[in-house]
Amino acid sequence: MNNSFIIAGVMGWPVAHSRSPLIHNHWIHQFNLSGAYGFFPVQPNNLESAIRGLQALGLAGCNITIPHKVNAMTYVDWVHPLAKRIGAINTIVVQPDGALHGFNNDGFGYIQSLLDAQPNWRANTGPTVVIGAGGAARAIVVSLLDAGATDIRVINRTHDKAEEFAQEFGAAVSSVKWNAREDALADAALLVNTTSQGMHGEPALNLSLSNLPKSALVSDAVYIPLETPFLKEARLRGNPTVNGLGMLLHQARPAFQAWFGVMPEVDQALYEKIARTI
Ligand code: NAP
Repeated sequence: MNNSFIIAGVMGWPVAHSRSPLIHNHWIHQFNLSGAYGFFPVQPNNLESAIRGLQALGLAGCNITIPHKVNAMTYVDWVHPLAKRIGAINTIVVQPDGALHGFNNDGFGYIQSLLDAQPNWRANTGPTVVIGAGGAARAIVVSLLDAGATDIRVINRTHDKAEEFAQEFGAAVSSVKWNAREDALADAALLVNTTSQGMHGEPALNLSLSNLPKSALVSDAVYIPLETPFLKEARLRGNPTVNGLGMLLHQARPAFQAWFGVMPEVDQALYEKIARTI
């Protein structure tokens, strides 16, 4: 393991709300490593120089968050094929030769969060319904496909974007019109909200669950609050639910491994530490 002091951080604008420093510093402390993870507030017009500066400053790399995930791709030297398919990066790793490599671990985080809730979960158990067609949806759909999903229905308020998913990702992905969204739930095994609806300060997702089988796993990318109105409705009618915090915690693991050389776990202590901040 590297004996030098290892520094990483999260680049975003604004970034003060990010939980990533708490997560990574928890693991640095847990493994008794010599290093630190900080906040890098970077305005959009400074993104290129900030990314180029990672190597010059001797940093191990950084996470990339809103609003930089798409634009940051253009300023790294190499983008992992998975991140290319997603169309965004959330992690940069500075290589020993100084090259900047971009990755996207959001979809990994999502799949791991489902496995935390249901260790025997399989992507091909039945149809998946994805509400939303933004960045989180792209990461989740690509990862579900790679996990073996064969029937993913994307439903978005702006239907054209859902249709683009269907065109781009092939036969396993179809689009359903927003006004038919409740019919699409009838045989679903997995339902995920990837819109910002239900987030603190936003109205609840406008979706009745009455057609959804009670066995369907219901998940939300939103983690503020931990239980959105959508997840609450699902829980009260008897569906198993997964909130967005697991996705956030698990996406951090491969990045931590790349920078600090240890693959950390998401344990109860970390989950509760971050949950207390929400
Ligand atoms: P984004 O790219 O801006 O996409 C937003 C999506 O929400 C679009 O599909 C948009 O539909 C939809 N939407 C917005 N307002 C709506 C409304 N009133 N009714 C119906 N749909 C609406 O955002 P994103 O990056 O995908 O993030 C989405 C959410 O996921 C955020 O809450 C974010 O915090 C969360 N997230 C969580 C994690 C995690 O680790 N847990 C990771 C990434 C993102 P239109 O196309 O019609 O505008």
